[in-house]
Amino acid sequence: MLDIESLISDFPILDRKVNGQRLVYLDNAATTQKPMPVLMASRHYYEAVNSNIHRGTHFLARLATDAYENARKTVARHLHVLDPREIIFTSGATDSINLVAQSLARSGKIGVGDEILISTLEHHANIVPWQMLCEQTGAILRVVPCAEDGTIDEVAFHQLLGKQTKVLALVWISNSFGVAHPIHRLTAEAKKSGALVLIDAAQAAPHMTMDVPAIGADFLVFSGHKVYANTGIGVLWGRADVLDSLPPWRGGGEMIKEVTFEKTTYNELPFKFEAGTPNIEGAISLAAAFDYLDELGMDEIRQHEANLLEIAAQSLTDSVPGIHLYGPAERTCALSFGIEGIHHYDLGTLIDQMGVAVRTGHHCCQPLMARFGITGTVRASFGIYNTEKDVDALTSSVHKAVSMLR
Ligand code: PMP
Repeated sequence: MLDIESLISDFPILDRKVNGQRLVYLDNAATTQKPMPVLMASRHYYEAVNSNIHRGTHFLARLATDAYENARKTVARHLHVLDPREIIFTSGATDSINLVAQSLARSGKIGVGDEILISTLEHHANIVPWQMLCEQTGAILRVVPCAEDGTIDEVAFHQLLGKQTKVLALVWISNSFGVAHPIHRLTAEAKKSGALVLIDAAQAAPHMTMDVPAIGADFLVFSGHKVYANTGIGVLWGRADVLDSLPPWRGGGEMIKEVTFEKTTYNELPFKFEAGTPNIEGAISLAAAFDYLDELGMDEIRQHEANLLEIAAQSLTDSVPGIHLYGPAERTCALSFGIEGIHHYDLGTLIDQMGVAVRTGHHCCQPLMARFGITGTVRASFGIYNTEKDVDALTSSVHKAVSMLR
């Protein structure tokens, strides 16, 4: 069991008052707050370590290089990945997906008539980079539909998957509806048919154990800021043999072995994909965040948040007439809803005045909103520091706002 009270005291921002009220932060799917060990890791880096890495001979350069490469090892360990060279630091999930799409575009492995398969639940970050790849290569984007409860249509998935499918790119957990895709099963099917598989774990990473090799995919991506670390850091995990077979995307320092004006040879993994000075402090903060989460236990975190989601779904249903909850009964991380006759933006604005932070709108999933004939939802998303008191605050603020707006 998580000791929530002591955990809350690790997050200084949760002491803030919003409009004179206790802050009830339920926008964790957008970004998470940062605990003291993460804040201290960043501060310590700039106070005692700061230097550029890899090519320096001096003391601080060695210290910073060790800290950065140790961070890579910590991330690998957290993901159950044996080879840290498979961890590429990026600026976030979006950057990681663009890296894969653009390396593939440059590789010549994708051609006219090849297909990229995604699902209706994808975030724009897992749609637009593939559309750009399609424009560049003549490939075609195919989309697996979802059922009324937001779960993927597996019959359609099997119909759409074929020899022409070169990439399956799937979100693990939908940021909009909290739906979990059965990624292990779908990955196995796609691998059987010869496709490369990319998993967007942006919303899985904060909430569950990620045994990455057990998924069987080729790539997995996520962002640091959603796992209680800094913004501007993210991860692309890729299978070493697949990454080795791809050309780099960005060129510059660090990613080279030798440069002449006639020809450049490229560095080995992971440096081949990390052009320029990386976000050293961000990587260190990510390692501190994973150490913090591992100390709490990912299974305990998942259980705690699942419990809150269940209570929130029930209490909103019981106390708010005309509410519609999106997604299946079993959700992870996010609870999205709409209320008959009330615009999501108005509701979000009113409950903010009561100290409750939720997100409203399309959640960067416009095609998903279009599928359900809506322009947006209200989304409450949970993190490790949320409590039943926060759920009560959500329910009563929504109840109050609805009676004001009706
Ligand atoms: N995928 C999913 C499922 C997300 O929720 C997000 C962020 N909302 C992203 C990708 C993109 O993450 P970032 O903006 O940190 O790159």
